[in-house]
Amino acid sequence: MIIIKEANLICTNCGKNIEGTRALRCADCDSPLDLVFDGHGIESSKSCSAERYRKFFPFEPHEIISMGEGATPTVYLPRLAEKIGVSSIGIKNESMNPTWSFKDRGTSCCTTHAKALGFDHIGTVSSGNMAASVAAYGSYAGMKTTILVKENLADEKLAPVAIYRAQLFRVAGNYDDVYTESFKLGKAKGIYFMNSDVPFRAAGSRSISFEIAESLNFDVPEWVIVPTSSGGNLRGVISGFADMKKYGYTSRIPRFICAQAAGCSPIAAAFEKGEMKVERFPNPDTIAHAIDNPFPPSGNETLALLSKYNGVAIGVSEESIISAQAELASNGLFGQPAAAVPIGAAYEARKRGIITEKDRVVTVFTGSGLKYTAAFARHNLSWRECHVSDLKTGIRD
Ligand SMILES: *Cc1c(COP(=O)(O)O)cnc(C)c1O
Ligand SMILES: [Zn+2]
Repeated sequence: MIIIKEANLICTNCGKNIEGTRALRCADCDSPLDLVFDGHGIESSKSCSAERYRKFFPFEPHEIISMGEGATPTVYLPRLAEKIGVSSIGIKNESMNPTWSFKDRGTSCCTTHAKALGFDHIGTVSSGNMAASVAAYGSYAGMKTTILVKENLADEKLAPVAIYRAQLFRVAGNYDDVYTESFKLGKAKGIYFMNSDVPFRAAGSRSISFEIAESLNFDVPEWVIVPTSSGGNLRGVISGFADMKKYGYTSRIPRFICAQAAGCSPIAAAFEKGEMKVERFPNPDTIAHAIDNPFPPSGNETLALLSKYNGVAIGVSEESIISAQAELASNGLFGQPAAAVPIGAAYEARKRGIITEKDRVVTVFTGSGLKYTAAFARHNLSWRECHVSDLKTGIRD
């Protein structure tokens, strides 16, 4: 077995230490695992996140598989900040990644890890952005790639994955079973399944936090709001800020809001009841398809982290998601519905007095609006027809 530096894994639930970095989930209690690696350092001459923050990971420079993901801007929207009633609102624009969502950070990290461990076959279980991301990185790295999606997934969502030429399966049966089954398949067939909350995917999301902190000269905002489905990304973002503090880059850790669509909000529902375990959310229904996991595999760990860092979970109504999407677009940023959910959560948290007018807020704008063009139908869009000779009178000044 190849030993990747001095890294190992620890179970987020039972605390079991697991030697090496090969495991994807705890064999004893089936909970998600955290990467344990005591390294840090910023390579200031590099811009792409995998290279710039490589020292936080147990990789050698020549191992890095990257298409230049990360290094995304935080765009500040003063008009929106004023409307919400906060000091500032920064939009961490993850739609600028190679496959237009933050998933590329974790996919780069997992693909690097897979290759370092000697795998030549990667895969994932996903219905959207992660499928496209893994298919793209598999093709880039020249690895065999297997993608498993839900049986009822629309053709228009399959084509943008199929274009990368991975083996793509629509799988009939219970979707939770596919997640679990994929790990068994992976063991039997030598496929590294980089699903939503596997340790190196969550660890890959830490660079979102490193970049936010660096962009503020190692200050941190009061609040970071993350649209949440499996919980893998939020786990990574929280541990990224925890690492920044642990290694002395920053003096504080922000507070976090786990933003869910009310129509599928298992974590927010448990949070509101003061419970530490998520229950399956009945009849999920939301336009924010990227965050519609009714039984999130990192749900319990997310609740534990919110409790540890004094965070909050909020469910956002469909109406508020659509109006947040419209509002972002009218400020120049068109995201998919999931990417707009944190804005709805910011309004709600401000209304409840959780966020105050002095607070600086950064939201993670997780994916591009062009990923889900069906949402256009909800926006009552219009345009006018005109002959060239009538333009002079037609254009409103
Ligand atoms: C995957 C995804 C999320 C949710 O991330 P999790 O790690 O599953 O919580 C949010 N928004 C977009 C656009 C996504 O693709
Ligand atoms: Zn365990």
